[in-house]
Parts: sequence; structure tokens; C-alpha cells
Amino acid sequence: MASIFRTLADLWSLVVGLGITGKEFCKPGVTVHYPRAEVTPEAAASFRGPIELIGLDKDPAKPKCIACMLCVSACPSNCIAVTRAPTPKPTPEELKAMAEAEARGEKPKKPAPPKAPGTWTYDFSLCSLCGSCVEVCPVDSIGFSHDIYMVGTRREDFVFDQLARLARKAAARKAEPKKAAPEAASAPAPAPETAATPASEA
Ligand code: SF4
Ligand code: SF4
Repeated sequence: MASIFRTLADLWSLVVGLGITGKEFCKPGVTVHYPRAEVTPEAAASFRGPIELIGLDKDPAKPKCIACMLCVSACPSNCIAVTRAPTPKPTPEELKAMAEAEARGEKPKKPAPPKAPGTWTYDFSLCSLCGSCVEVCPVDSIGFSHDIYMVGTRREDFVFDQLARLARKAAARKAEPKKAAPEAASAPAPAPETAATPASEA
């Protein structure tokens, strides 16, 4: 008797499984038959590509990054290298104020280093796309790109100068509406970013 119930339970499980399969089979497909079909920006939006810097709202070519180095420490694969922007030389007025402070026996107030990166390099060939850097950034300056067509033939092709990459993307976005407005129908689609400009060449 027990074996009959077990067989019935197994059959019911099979029916449930086939039901789920049938339901999913009838739904519209979510995958794209690339290269027969184009991957739309909407479809690419869920793609977790190599990380990229996010620009300031008022100046998208400049990163939000404050060079805190948290992402460098958080990365388990050592793929991020950041250096701080150099401290600007004191102006003649600041030099004068510093000399006067020293003469008074006070500690001169030196110009503060800017809270911005001087260099920001990323080696995608080492990246596991774990997302630790994205989570740890206190100013939301890192995000995953959706560059699905990125290709390269050498390992170095995937070492990115992220500041140059951000500036290129900002310039491309700025140029987009101008190109599209007068000849929207005939304008070619913007070329996808490739890994053709590594950090060493940017
Ligand atoms: S996603 Fe992970 S492995 Fe890739 S750079 Fe960020 S912290 Fe490093
Ligand atoms: S990207 Fe974010 S976490 Fe990394 S150095 Fe800049 S501010 Fe810090």
C-alpha cells in the first residue's frame, strides 16, 4: 500500500514539473538569438559587465570618486588601483599667509589635497564581478557597465584607464542627441565600446 502512495506522489511530482515546464514553454523568450537578432539596450540592462565609474551630475566626465581607497581594499582580486590627485601648489596669497603664520609661530595651513582620483585603473581580466567595490563605495561612484560587445585579443586590452573611459562615454553621450536630432532615421547606431583602448594607451 505504501509503495502505491509513493508511486502516486512521484507521478504527481512529475505532473507538477511538466506543468511548470509547459507554462514556461508558452511564455515569450527572454534570450536573444545573437547574432541573428540584435541585443536591445533593454535586454543588455540586466547584463553585469566590467565595472565603470559614474560621473557627477553637473559634470559627467568627472567621477564622483573621492579617492577614499575603500574599493581598492575591498577588491578580493586586486584589480583596482587608485591614486589621489596631486595637491595643488599654493598660490602666492597662500604662500604669503603661510609665511605670516609661521612668523607668528602658528602652524601654517597648507592647501588640502583634492578629494579626487589622479589615476583609476581596473584590470577586468582579474575581476570576478563580485560587486564588493560597488557595494563599498560611499559615494556610489562605481557601477556595472552593460558593455556586452567588449572584445580584445590581448590580456592588456582589458586593463582600463577608468577616468579616460568615463570621459569617452560622457563625450559620446553628449554627442548623441546632436547626431540624432536632424537625421534620426538615417543616423547609424553608436558603436559599442570595445576593449581597444587599454589603460596603457588611453
Ligand atoms: S567586482 Fe569584485 S573583483 Fe571586480 S573589481 Fe569589484 S571588487 Fe574587484
Ligand atoms: S570609487 Fe568609491 S570606493 Fe573607490 S576610491 Fe573612489 S570613492 Fe572610494
